[in-house]
Amino acid sequence: MQTVSEPGQARSTVSLEAKSPFEMRIHLGENVAETDVKTALKTGDLGFLHSFTTGSAVDGPGLRLVAWTTSCMFRCQYCHNPDTWTLKNGIPVSLESAVAEVQKYAAGLKALRGGFTLSGGEPLMQDRFAARLFAAVKGMGVHTAIETNGFYGERLSDAELHDIDLVILDMKAFTPEQHARVTGGMRNDDVLEFCKRLAGLNRPMWLRYVLVPGLTDLPDEMQAVANFGASLGVVERAEILPFHQLGRFKWERLGLDYQLANTGAPSDGSIANAVAIFRAAGLNAY
Ligand code: SF4
Repeated sequence: MQTVSEPGQARSTVSLEAKSPFEMRIHLGENVAETDVKTALKTGDLGFLHSFTTGSAVDGPGLRLVAWTTSCMFRCQYCHNPDTWTLKNGIPVSLESAVAEVQKYAAGLKALRGGFTLSGGEPLMQDRFAARLFAAVKGMGVHTAIETNGFYGERLSDAELHDIDLVILDMKAFTPEQHARVTGGMRNDDVLEFCKRLAGLNRPMWLRYVLVPGLTDLPDEMQAVANFGASLGVVERAEILPFHQLGRFKWERLGLDYQLANTGAPSDGSIANAVAIFRAAGLNAY
């Protein structure tokens, strides 16, 4: 268990490790000066993290060490971690400290055929930190994965993308209208372009689609996402994630307008139908 106290930065007694990403964390980096934040984002010397969690079996192949970044440009209606939307809700962590944290687990992750996953929030809001961290972890011989919405994929060079063994793309929608509806008005042309670029580079991908009754359980939309994913030729796995209410308390405590307050989980039949659509398109779907 490590507590964070970066020289010259805000001191925090909050542990960098969390039991799960659902732990509410806010204002942890609010004492970091704006100029330091700008420098951090430009250089990647410093990152803002919600936490590290260990032992995840759902964030890539094998057992994963996951670092959860803060900051996101999307405002998904179904987001279960809205406390990660704001950069300064994260704990400021030097790149050196983050690398050392991964190094502690490197031997075990390799032995268990697991790896390290950078998630969020949206990790590429801190693209320099992400790129440098991936390069260091890759150098340890540990499998690397990113969970991203893909919007800022252009921020990574081809060489930097080769430091990432697996891109887990959270595909919100295929049509621009539905994408805007789900994400609070954000466009998705850059997301689709990033996917095509990954395909051109032959980089392995997993595709994720969150199934929300009344919002994303649209047959035509799912069909379009599935067809697009299959056309890429690099999607090894497609995961249908059933909507849940684990993040509801965060929306309420943050005073946010939670439009899905009365939405339940999708039925087994609805999940099976979604999986069938993705499989029919030729994807290895679960
Ligand atoms: S992209 Fe992810 S972190 Fe960002 S709002 Fe959507 S679900 Fe939340």
